[in-house]
Amino acid sequence: MTPNEPSPSLHFIQDIITEDLKTNKWGGRVNTRFPPEPNGYLHIGHAKSICLNFGLALEFGGVCNLRFDDTNPTKEEVEYVDSIMNDVRWLGFDWGDRLYYASDYFGHLYEWAVQLINKGKAYVCDLSADQMREYRGTLTAPGKNSPYRERSIAENLDLFKRMKAGEFSDGSRTLRAKIDMAHPNLNMRDPVMYRILHAEHHRTGNQWCIYPTYDFTHGQSDSIEKITHSICTLEFENHRPLYDWYIDELGIFHPQQIEFARLNLTYTVMSKRRLLELVTGNYVAGWDDPRMPTIAGMRRRGYTPEAIRAFCAKIGVSKCDGIIDMSVLENAVRDDLNKRAPRVLAVLKPLKVIIDNYPEGQSEELEAINNPEDPAMGKRKVPFSRVLYIEQDDFREDPPKGYYRLAPGKEVRLRYAYFITCKNVVKDPKTGEVIELHCTYDPATRGGNAPDGRKVQGTIHWVSAGHAIDAEVRLYDYLFKIADLADVPEGEDYKNYLNPTSLVTLKRCKLEPGLAKATPGSRFQFERQGYFCVDSVESNVFNRMVSLKDSWAKIEKGQKKK
Ligand code: ATP
Ligand code: MG
Repeated sequence: MTPNEPSPSLHFIQDIITEDLKTNKWGGRVNTRFPPEPNGYLHIGHAKSICLNFGLALEFGGVCNLRFDDTNPTKEEVEYVDSIMNDVRWLGFDWGDRLYYASDYFGHLYEWAVQLINKGKAYVCDLSADQMREYRGTLTAPGKNSPYRERSIAENLDLFKRMKAGEFSDGSRTLRAKIDMAHPNLNMRDPVMYRILHAEHHRTGNQWCIYPTYDFTHGQSDSIEKITHSICTLEFENHRPLYDWYIDELGIFHPQQIEFARLNLTYTVMSKRRLLELVTGNYVAGWDDPRMPTIAGMRRRGYTPEAIRAFCAKIGVSKCDGIIDMSVLENAVRDDLNKRAPRVLAVLKPLKVIIDNYPEGQSEELEAINNPEDPAMGKRKVPFSRVLYIEQDDFREDPPKGYYRLAPGKEVRLRYAYFITCKNVVKDPKTGEVIELHCTYDPATRGGNAPDGRKVQGTIHWVSAGHAIDAEVRLYDYLFKIADLADVPEGEDYKNYLNPTSLVTLKRCKLEPGLAKATPGSRFQFERQGYFCVDSVESNVFNRMVSLKDSWAKIEKGQKKK
């Protein structure tokens, strides 16, 4: 398996590992890990972290662990654990026998907490959450010591044991590290190590009623697993001194933490809290809604693991926060599918065309190329007959300048078929809407060329009405109307910026008959339209993955010109 595309130049983490291998810092070992909290489905930002951690292990002959950071029993569920494992595998990575849970370390962490109490480095505090906030100080003002800070070691040991035994109510006490309430880094101001929470955990059940905080768990979990390079996102940079403090006070194996910039993408959100809100509030149809930036959503939409990995390789790894344009992801999807998706003819908004000089009751089969990018994909037959459908957009009664498609009196090429000329337009007498075109065809142009050398400027797609199958097609657009959700004004709900046309459903689309056999999850290029995937949940539904060109960029360019 070689899931990562070779990247053109080394990024700073590759440089660090190369140097570590040269100096033999870790005895030649490279052990990374991907540490999700099972409180939601993975998104494309996690994919960046997965590709990075598993990719580095593959690249440097190391290993990568999968570890669930499951310290928060109230928000975590087995459903998320299962979905995360499924998504990591689907992306093409393998943790072998290195599947771990932070909850497996609860016993170990408890012993370490006792060790810190015995060293006089931790104490039981009775301040409430509000009081603790008040005592904490601010970025500019130092905090003040808790009145419980000088409890004796014996009293702390006794109270902590009784916390564990369930004698106290939720929130009534905490165990805190005794560091420095005036420390410039707020994370170092006697942070909470343990909280009381009478809650059932998805793996340890009711065995515990005190739970370690993420900060007291994360670094030591890395240490237990002998992680060499503990790679995380930039917001943990100012937690690093605390992780270092715990590890050094405990005198245990010390991994190196390295921070990189998290992925942000335009027109979407990347926080699990918000994604959960969109799901539970029914703003989308679930975690796997094809508009979601989740791996599950992208999979259902038809994106391939190869495209997602290529995207992650392309955006690289850096120390500067930024926002990546959604078009970069869409281009990765197009590049991937261009090579592998068979071309088919599909009419999304049908307009009936009658070829008046084509014999009634007759039909024939024309040869069509499956993929001009790959001759090995061969050819197929598509049926042609007297009554066809073309795209409504491919006809204008009053064509603007430069419109090369069908119009009264104009001739166009039907892809793989004949030249046709529009002779007559039939309208609905009530609405004035064009409902039918009468055309003639030139039998000498079979296959798409005129023996007399006559040229036409437009080629349009079509299907034979009597042979086509009906299907539902779902057109997806960006989930949000604005590019950068950070621009939402303070106090305003980001959900006000959901794109009302992010899903447009077309009910009676007409597809070439071969698509009746398309299996769930298979992908096609609908010629001139975009890439589509057969929905894997609902039958006879096609999801648009991406249009052929970046139409938004075009529109935006147009607007700028004006
Ligand atoms: P969220 O902020 O969406 O809730 P999280 O950071 O709390 O995400 P975790 O389950 O803790 O989610 O993430 C697991 C790993 O994925 C962490 O190492 C985290 O740094 C990384 N990760 C999460 N979001 C991103 C992102 N947008 N870009 C890159 N890596 C990310
Ligand atoms: Mg996190």
